[in-house]
Amino acid sequence: MKRYEVIVIGGGPSGLMASIAAAMQGASVLLLDKGDKLGRKLGISGGGRCNVTNAKEIDELIRFIPGNGRFLYSAFANFNNRDIIRFFEDLGIALKEEDNGRMFPVSDKAKTVVDALIGRASSLGVEMRTREPVREILYGPEGVKGVQLISGQTLNAASVIVATGGRSVPHTGSTGDGYPWAEAAGHTITELYPTEVPIVSKEPFIASRELQGLSLRDVELSVMNPKGKAVISHRGDMIFTHFGLSGPIALRCSQFIRQVKKKFGVPEALLQIDLFPDYSAGALEQELRRLAAAEPKKALKNVFKGKIPERLLPLLFGQAGLNGDTTFEHLPKEPWAAFITVLKAFPVKASGTRPFEEAFVTGGGVHLKEIEPRTMESKLMPGLYFCGEVLDIHGYTGGYNITAAFTTGYTAGYHAGSSAHAN
Ligand SMILES: Cc1cc2nc3c(=O)[nH]c(=O)nc-3n(C[C@H](O)[C@H](O)[C@H](O)COP(=O)(O)OP(=O)(O)OC[C@H]3O[C@@H](n4cnc5c(N)ncnc54)[C@H](O)[C@@H]3O)c2cc1C
Repeated sequence: MKRYEVIVIGGGPSGLMASIAAAMQGASVLLLDKGDKLGRKLGISGGGRCNVTNAKEIDELIRFIPGNGRFLYSAFANFNNRDIIRFFEDLGIALKEEDNGRMFPVSDKAKTVVDALIGRASSLGVEMRTREPVREILYGPEGVKGVQLISGQTLNAASVIVATGGRSVPHTGSTGDGYPWAEAAGHTITELYPTEVPIVSKEPFIASRELQGLSLRDVELSVMNPKGKAVISHRGDMIFTHFGLSGPIALRCSQFIRQVKKKFGVPEALLQIDLFPDYSAGALEQELRRLAAAEPKKALKNVFKGKIPERLLPLLFGQAGLNGDTTFEHLPKEPWAAFITVLKAFPVKASGTRPFEEAFVTGGGVHLKEIEPRTMESKLMPGLYFCGEVLDIHGYTGGYNITAAFTTGYTAGYHAGSSAHAN
């Protein structure tokens, strides 16, 4: 039976990069994926254009990977975002930078990126098999022995790299298969949860769907703890849906809802939307007062139409106890102050998030204390490596997760390849 030096399980960005790095060390490499093609999730990332990485400085990159980004310092020393850019450019794939440092192929097609990775792996002699689900990893007293396929076939290898991804969007093949294999080697799996995922709210104005489809541009969304302090705030765009909130800043805030609920044992987390993040409450009050005073006989609801999202106005007036038909001439003091408060902190109670099926990323995974950060090798099982989303690392969308997958994949492949080939 043929014995491989390295077997990589999973043909997403981490597994493809691991295969390439291992083969570059001269190792014989077999890449197994259970799907009918490689890089399926990569193919739908970044809206189908594949957000290959992000051009930010390393410290900034790590800040945008709130799920244990600091663990990546060593891996970034091996292969970072600049190396990713150079890697693709050397393969003839021109990249372009868009807003917030996001890097995309000039072709705007994810297929270009997936094909480049497969082409490079192929040119290095990596054997790639699709429709080949792995059932389990075989362990012996000395370390990893190989893998067993669902078909029953056993394949031997000096090193096995687990690149099976998380549990989100399972139809792409990421069904969490790597976790029980890690547990069988003695690893701990931290709690798994959907992240970068839309937020669910049971507020009556969500249930009534009166705001469904309303987009808010350049607002600030905060997740509050029960003591009234913001745990996190993100500024940008969001949208009300039939179940709650979605859009870029809602996705970014999503993981903190779980955090607050868990830490404080509360059934809901309070969110606040600042509709005018550039104004202090005082400056906003003066500005709105100036507008109303300029048309003293006009109903407030008509004065503020262009300034405040019209569909939100009745709700804002209602929460403040201010009659929208009132005019500046009859402005009541307390409801007016309450109106300003609600504009700066529109409250939305969030009960949770949508499930894994709708999450861009999986939070939690293989505990990082049990992984050697310079090599991605297990500290518990010689010859076993992990890379990509199966690890307890998660970033915001914007190329950070794919960067983490490439950097950990390269590191695992390089070390698995060089140590297996040397022995
Ligand atoms: C719609 C969408 C958009 C996204 N957009 C972005 C973005 O813009 N920026 C960003 O940074 N991240 C984005 N992400 C997240 C990013 O795509 C993932 O973090 C990344 O793909 C993880 O790479 P991975 O190699 O760890 O795992 P995956 O890409 O999940 O690949 C795992 C592979 O393992 C295979 N596999 C699993 N079990 C087995 C088994 N038993 N046997 C054999 N093979 C197996 C699967 O078939 C799969 O091909 C997005 C995700 C989604 C769903």
